[in-house]
Amino acid sequence: MRIYVSVDMEGVTGLTDPEEMHAGGRGYERGCELMTADANAVIAGAFEAGGTAVVVNDAHGSTKNLRVDLLDPRASLIRGPGKPMRMAQGLSGDFQAAVFAGYHARAGVQHGVLNHTWMGKEIQNVYLNGEVCGETRLVAAFAGFYGVPVALVTGDEAVCEEARSLLGDVETVAVKKGVDRFAAELLTPSVAQRLIREGTARALNRLADLRPYEVAPPFTLGVEWNSTAIASGCALVPGTRQAGPRHTEFTTDDYRDIMGLLGVYATIAGHVACGSGVYG
Ligand SMILES: [Zn+2]
Repeated sequence: MRIYVSVDMEGVTGLTDPEEMHAGGRGYERGCELMTADANAVIAGAFEAGGTAVVVNDAHGSTKNLRVDLLDPRASLIRGPGKPMRMAQGLSGDFQAAVFAGYHARAGVQHGVLNHTWMGKEIQNVYLNGEVCGETRLVAAFAGFYGVPVALVTGDEAVCEEARSLLGDVETVAVKKGVDRFAAELLTPSVAQRLIREGTARALNRLADLRPYEVAPPFTLGVEWNSTAIASGCALVPGTRQAGPRHTEFTTDDYRDIMGLLGVYATIAGHVACGSGVYG
């Protein structure tokens, strides 16, 4: 049984502050250790349940956060920027299950710790086939494209609720309860990591019950940006159409285009947002 693990950072045990998720910020190095510990809890649970291989993808920011020197040596790690499939890099039909650890609620969810979708400042909302869509749904649909079920989602209570309403009886482990976007009531790491390990094993032991999250093609990715400049910049990408002053849309039959394009958009949006512009 091969298990794929996508690890984001906002939903990691103990973390509530954006500084803890940016290299150079206060608490960042400790945040990386806590992120690695959550990943290790998933790896331990996966092998307990009969896993034979675990591939971990660092899915946050620069994707250079997980500490490979502290990672359970039974797993391998996908690391570094420029990965074409971003949060889903390496996920394919070779896996029997996917786990999303350290995930967070989509943009605009009240009490969702660090809630956002793809980009915290630049994006108001993402839509998949007309329905509002967070990162859990984006990556679950990628897994579903390959027929891989999502076994477990960990993060705060809000993302666990989002995952259950989307994926049905998926296993979830809440490691914190949001008070506000940057405040939460936390479980301590030893408790949270035990729950993650047990939840992973429990989920994989009932894998036969779990179904892939399948979205019927064609896939339409809608993005509501917070800026007309970003929308018009992203609309320059061939195939992307401007659907409104701050809206873009893109349609494809290959879900990989959706993940790839979100990465391209992020590069453009980052340039526009910092004032360097995409027009040279
Ligand atoms: Zn993140």
